[in-house]
Amino acid sequence: MPVPLLDLRAQFDTIRDEVLPSLLAVVERQQFIMGDEVGKLEQAVAGLCGVPHGIACASGTDALLLSLKVLNLQPGDEVVTSPFTFFATAGAIANAGGKPVFVDIDSRTFNLDLDQVEAAITPRTRAVVPVHLFGQMAPMACLLEMSRRHGLAVIEDAAQAIGARQRVDGTWKMAGQTGTTGAFSFFPSKNLGAWGDGGMIVTGDAALAERLRRLRLHGGAKQYHHDEIGTNSRLDTLQAAVLLTKLPHLAGWSAARRQRAARYDQAFAGLVQTPFVAPENEHIYHQYTVRVARRDALKAHLAKLGIGCAVYYPTPLHVQPCFAPLGYRQGQFPEAERAAREVLSLPVYPELTDPLQDQVIEAVRGFYR
Ligand SMILES: *Cc1c(COP(=O)(O)O)cnc(C)c1O
Repeated sequence: MPVPLLDLRAQFDTIRDEVLPSLLAVVERQQFIMGDEVGKLEQAVAGLCGVPHGIACASGTDALLLSLKVLNLQPGDEVVTSPFTFFATAGAIANAGGKPVFVDIDSRTFNLDLDQVEAAITPRTRAVVPVHLFGQMAPMACLLEMSRRHGLAVIEDAAQAIGARQRVDGTWKMAGQTGTTGAFSFFPSKNLGAWGDGGMIVTGDAALAERLRRLRLHGGAKQYHHDEIGTNSRLDTLQAAVLLTKLPHLAGWSAARRQRAARYDQAFAGLVQTPFVAPENEHIYHQYTVRVARRDALKAHLAKLGIGCAVYYPTPLHVQPCFAPLGYRQGQFPEAERAAREVLSLPVYPELTDPLQDQVIEAVRGFYR
């Protein structure tokens, strides 16, 4: 039997009886824009993150873009981030008027290497965008200390990390909690996925929250009065209803992902390089990503056996054609480039059964026999 990389229909089967009535309730009210569910979801996600404010918006990309817009970046202002991430991270920096400055990653976690972040800071640096890649948080305590010292904003790209946490001085801090803002995506394949596009910004800063609420509604708090130029970036009520239904399941889904990951860890020990989890982190395994030398051959082998797998990400951003004007070259960030050659993500969704997972394990073992 083929094993997909992700099976959203299997998830739907488990929540059908909850989610359909919640959608029907919205349809009966015909309140599709900024309905009650949007505010409820904002409260619930902010609560999950341990912050007072949640601002829903149209996508994870917009959550990043709006977070960066409030910094009022001027031409030449720099924003430091990772070259080993989904394109939106750096695209949002450029679209907000900033200059993306890439630094290499930590080879073990795939997250920003903080020594390199510090070395890249100049008088023009305004912010850092750490990406909590694959569901594991970047080291926030050190990053926040460094950012405070240099007067920088920290915009957490938490698109892959909703519900992930990190122990700092004995207390848990959630993804999105400690940055200036945290940006989440509800793209259907994310751990908390809508039935379309969606995103959310969380923040502890009331003034920032108010401005973000204005910016997503064309910059106007009152209708037909515009303090600044914003955009249309709302989360629609139907998506909020889907997400509100799914949210109470998220902790259980994350635990199931961790259990799948532990099973792979055991099965793959000594065979392939399994994910490294920093001791202070609780991983939510948006992806279970192994590193192997003959990656493309393993990928072809799995594809032939009907095992879903994918490469996130095959090309680091510093060598993307659109960023050529920034002047980076191949070879400049060896760890990001090596990761792009070696990573392979395997099925780790909560509904993956033991027999299906065993098929994945057998297929990987078969490659090395
Ligand atoms: C998915 C993702 C985004 C963008 O989210 P969208 O909702 O697709 O716009 C940004 N950054 C990372 C790391 C992502 O994985």
